[in-house]
Amino acid sequence: AKKNGGSCFNYFTPALQEAALQRRSLIKELRSAIQTNQFVLHFQPIVEMVSGRIHKAEALVRWNHPERGILGPVEFIPVTEETGLIIELGEWIFKEAVRWTKCWTERRSGEFQVSINISPLQLKKEDHQKGNEWLAHLDEIGLSGTRVVLEITEGLLMGENAKIADKLRRYRAAGIQMAVDDFGTGYSSLSYLKKLDIDYLKIDKSFVSNLATDTNDRAISTAIIVMAHKVGLKVIAEGVETVEQRDFLIAAGCDYCQGYLYSRPVPPEQFERLLDQDVVN
Ligand code: C2E
Ligand code: CA
Ligand code: CA
Ligand code: CA
Repeated sequence: AKKNGGSCFNYFTPALQEAALQRRSLIKELRSAIQTNQFVLHFQPIVEMVSGRIHKAEALVRWNHPERGILGPVEFIPVTEETGLIIELGEWIFKEAVRWTKCWTERRSGEFQVSINISPLQLKKEDHQKGNEWLAHLDEIGLSGTRVVLEITEGLLMGENAKIADKLRRYRAAGIQMAVDDFGTGYSSLSYLKKLDIDYLKIDKSFVSNLATDTNDRAISTAIIVMAHKVGLKVIAEGVETVEQRDFLIAAGCDYCQGYLYSRPVPPEQFERLLDQDVVN
């Protein structure tokens, strides 16, 4: 600010002011969107590579905005994280995801599993009740924890946060599984894989998209799969769009994959039809 003549107010150029205003109105809109339930979950099948069967799905949130139509999470999740609104939205996402899962698990005689994206803030928050709300909720609707996978990011696992580790242990004790999302894009210390009980690594789509041509990405993906299997983890590749990518991943021994090749994330009614089809090859 000093450079601009010493006035702090020079920070706020009209463009920045405009952005600040827009952000404030977005926050306001988000608050009321949570209140009036303007969100929907879409589900993307996670396919077992060898059989082509749909064993799982990832729940992905969308905002059904009254004027702007369906908005993707990149347009609003960051703001909900900065403002803490993700706590409330995250509760809705969890409950909505497990509600559908209860229904689909019964359809598939117990085989189905849902993956839910969890923001770090949701796990960092102190439980304001004894016990845990998510576990209590699963109990209440009669869904086994084994039907739920929490997708968390590497960053969350890196810090020595005893409270988070403790929470994750409690979830695991209830049968809930853990997936490391966007694996390989964040901090790359692997020590946490040993310390924490993880079930799945998700290879980020940035490694998958160039598998047909990029020898480094092929080497990295293969190495992730080999390493994961050595320490007893299953691998899910995301962003699989082509037959070439799928064939490479099958040959490399990848366990599951998801991507536009099989299906985009779709509304629950549409997902149900995929589920009835059973195989999506
Ligand atoms: P993510 O967890 O890495 O989710 C995968 C993203 O890749 C999704 O985008 C999905 O639609 C997209 N995708 C799937 N297959 C393909 C493909 O073959 N090609 C391409 N190009 N993209 C594919 P989406 O739904 O826009 O979500 C973006 C991010 O927003 C997610 O990344 C996740 O970090 C976050 N997010 C989504 N839903 C939730 C949620 O319920 N809670 C939280 N906390 N975050 C969420
Ligand atoms: Ca994810
Ligand atoms: Ca991911
Ligand atoms: Ca990703």
